[in-house]
Amino acid sequence: MIKNYLLAPGPVPVPPRVLQAMAMPIIHHRTPQFSRIFEEAEQGLKELFQTKQDVMILASSGTGAMEASVTNTLSPGDEVLVVNAGKFGERWGKIAAAFGVKVHELKVEWGKAVSAQEVQRLLDAQPGIRAVLMQASETSTTALHPVKEIAAITRQRDVLLVVDGITAVGVIDMPMDEWGIDILVTGSQKALMLPPGLAFLALSERAWERSKTAKTPRFYFDLKRERDNLAKNTTAWTPAVTLIIGLRECLAIMKEEGWANVFARHERNARATRAAAQALDLALLAPEAPSPAVTGMHVPAGVDGGKLVAYLRDKMGVTFAGGQDHLKGKIVRVAHLGHMGTFDVVTAISALELGLTHFGREVGLGRGVGAAEKVLLEALPA
Ligand SMILES: *Cc1c(COP(=O)(O)O)cnc(C)c1O
Repeated sequence: MIKNYLLAPGPVPVPPRVLQAMAMPIIHHRTPQFSRIFEEAEQGLKELFQTKQDVMILASSGTGAMEASVTNTLSPGDEVLVVNAGKFGERWGKIAAAFGVKVHELKVEWGKAVSAQEVQRLLDAQPGIRAVLMQASETSTTALHPVKEIAAITRQRDVLLVVDGITAVGVIDMPMDEWGIDILVTGSQKALMLPPGLAFLALSERAWERSKTAKTPRFYFDLKRERDNLAKNTTAWTPAVTLIIGLRECLAIMKEEGWANVFARHERNARATRAAAQALDLALLAPEAPSPAVTGMHVPAGVDGGKLVAYLRDKMGVTFAGGQDHLKGKIVRVAHLGHMGTFDVVTAISALELGLTHFGREVGLGRGVGAAEKVLLEALPA
């Protein structure tokens, strides 16, 4: 028997309580029963996003909400600044280009955070730019960007700040309204600990204002239509009923834990993992600005990271993510997202120690686990 542990940055494990809620017989979506569930989920999403605005629920993966952000607020020929610090930043550029938006790309070395000063400099140099598209946490490189600092710059001018928060919402404290984020996007299969299939986004007042003049064609992802339906506690099209029932349960679990505790748990588990990496001499991929959602580590020279990830997954049941593009075979990414506790960290580090030992590396069994446990001690219950 191989017992499976899903420790990749999405999809993530779903709590049993949520699986059970989703096993309910399907109900019709144009009913008071569904509207009640929808209304509760909506309330929870507003808390999660820390916004007074409506949070729209789309039946799509996270990329659907990224696309909706572009098509609902921009017109062909508009200029945007895309922060490209990894695969997901690159995706913003591709989406914008697909709809005829002119992209100014700010390339950032993989593993580094973008500099807010650099964003400001580019906005000064290119006054035609109407929006900044960026990630909060660049999952592919495990770096965390300074969204708050950048929001302080964009809110001073007629430039929308569009943030892919898919591995940041529910991981870090990121108050949308207080910071002045204009569009915030997330997806179901990350910190929300649901199966894949839902995307969420909220727009600021000025983003809604922009949407009135945005000329990009849109139909399925017409956010005004979604907002009009949301006022009646329903969605424009048939919603993913089962996932929304699960969503209500996930948000209830997060609220029971308390938002501050949710953020602290992610931060602590990430810190414990980084301490283990240091003890095992595995260089961090993003040492200066590490995301608390996922930790990237270089594998030792001479070890094929692809083979290590495949061995741990297929032979030992532990699923991590590897690297993409030039980092293929060079790194391992260990997630801390969602339904993850103390012993998920211990499992992850133990698997790494055993896996590296299998590939002939003398890492010192228990050294990483011990370093992680020293951090995890902080949360030892009374
Ligand atoms: C997972 C992820 C996405 C989502 O992509 P989908 O596959 O469309 O759900 C987008 N951005 C980031 C930063 C992610 O981590």
